[in-house]
Amino acid sequence: MRTCPKCGKRLSPVYFKTVCRYCGADLLYYRYEERLEQDARKAAAQEETVRRLLNKLPLRRKKAP
Ligand SMILES: [Zn+2]
Repeated sequence: MRTCPKCGKRLSPVYFKTVCRYCGADLLYYRYEERLEQDARKAAAQEETVRRLLNKLPLRRKKAP
């Protein structure tokens, strides 16, 4: 069952319009944005892992203030 990502109302599986009929949210845009967010989060997690690895190396350690 498809639900609106904004208002959470159920949408009929045969409701093919891209705009929620309850709140007017753009369903395609919402899904697209959600995907972008997930990608960004994944990238940030990978970056964090790399940074942690690099921090273990003496050469990459920050200078003490
Ligand atoms: Zn909605």
